Amino acid sequence: MFNGQDLLLALALAITALFFGWLTDEFGWSFFLALAAWTGMQFREQRRLDIWSRHPLRRPDNDLLSWQAISNRLFRSLKQARNRTHNAIDGLQALRMVTETLPDAAIVLRANGDIDDLNEAAGRVLNLQHKDRGQSLAALVRQPEFIALARAKIDDDLVEFTSPLNESVRLEARRVQMAEGRSLLLVRDVTELNRLLSMRQDFIANVSHELRTPLTVIVGYIETLLSEDLDRATTLELIEKLRSPTTRMRALVDDLLLLTRLESSPNPGRDELSFVDLRTLIKAIANDGNALSAGRHRIISSIESDAMVIGIEHELLSAFLNLLTNAVRYSPDGGEIEVRWTDIDGGARFSISDQGIGIPAEHLSRITERFYRVDLAKSRVRGGTGLGLAIVKHVLKRHNSELQIVSELNNGSTFYCDIPESQLNRTSDISQEINT
Ligand code: ADP
Repeated sequence: MFNGQDLLLALALAITALFFGWLTDEFGWSFFLALAAWTGMQFREQRRLDIWSRHPLRRPDNDLLSWQAISNRLFRSLKQARNRTHNAIDGLQALRMVTETLPDAAIVLRANGDIDDLNEAAGRVLNLQHKDRGQSLAALVRQPEFIALARAKIDDDLVEFTSPLNESVRLEARRVQMAEGRSLLLVRDVTELNRLLSMRQDFIANVSHELRTPLTVIVGYIETLLSEDLDRATTLELIEKLRSPTTRMRALVDDLLLLTRLESSPNPGRDELSFVDLRTLIKAIANDGNALSAGRHRIISSIESDAMVIGIEHELLSAFLNLLTNAVRYSPDGGEIEVRWTDIDGGARFSISDQGIGIPAEHLSRITERFYRVDLAKSRVRGGTGLGLAIVKHVLKRHNSELQIVSELNNGSTFYCDIPESQLNRTSDISQEINT
């Protein structure tokens, strides 16, 4: 406790006491006064130490003679401890921020099944709040599969169950064992993922089914051709019959490839775009429509706008031809079909109206889904692949537009899309640079 300074001071006081004792011949009083001075000084220092100890993270006073080394050491180690605590708090806060921003619910359970900690997403996903810490999870979430997982009562560490908050939402929970009997439960919404997975399964099933039907017909004809002793005329007749299913298969594969390309391509870049003259395009599709109709329908073209579309010509051609082909396919003989290109507020509208069989209202919201048909048999007989409107939807999306349908059962339909002004060129100067 004593340092060099203390010893010097004590020595100085002792010499002074000796000197005064020698001068006055009162050694007793002299030493008594020196001792009193020493005690006073120690008392004063203790008071300062007491004051400093109330805020030990302030640098200690230089006047602390005896205690200076100790208080300095104490001050330094307290400062280091404080820095370490700050770093640990920063680390914890960063970790909490990560768990709070997680889209999935994260719940830490104690060994007895009480909630130790949880993040904000637990509120959205399971309606659990921070105030629920310390409560039993089983009492708050009444979902037997989930609770069985939380209690490790099942072999799997993954379980799927219906959300307790919304019956149409499916949740997936994963359990991770932690130290000291604790466990971490991660819960996420898998409704969209399930929907995509089942869409993919449906798609594969549909494609297989669509290809299988014409293939079965082809195989049937080939077996007849091989098994029977046929004359040349019958052989040629059978071979001719192979044309329809093979054409159908080719149409299906072509549409599938086009759809896949459209779905996987990013939006068209500037160098892919050109000014598409709808006058020429409508003439071309009307010709094809007339060839398909073979005079059974009257196809009228009304071109009332000279706006050109800034887009990809072959995609627009394919989309608009699909709509016209459908109008021909689903209209009875003698029906009138009008193809129209006209100016509207904020852009131009392409529309195809027919007087055909129409679409029941309940089918309208799903009609652009792949392979969705109102009447599968009618669509097949008329040569449809079930992918036409899905292709149209994607092409229009790539041109900042959307397919709209107005239809009345047995009274005809109008399929139209509004092309925004930003996607049009009205200068009729084809050499002008595209500004998109
Ligand atoms: P498809 O190749 O079967 O025609 P689409 O995707 O082009 O496939 O059309 C989907 C379904 O929408 C068709 O099967 C048909 O039921 C209905 N549909 C499309 N266009 C018309 C129309 N103009 N009139 C009536 N129904 C239509």
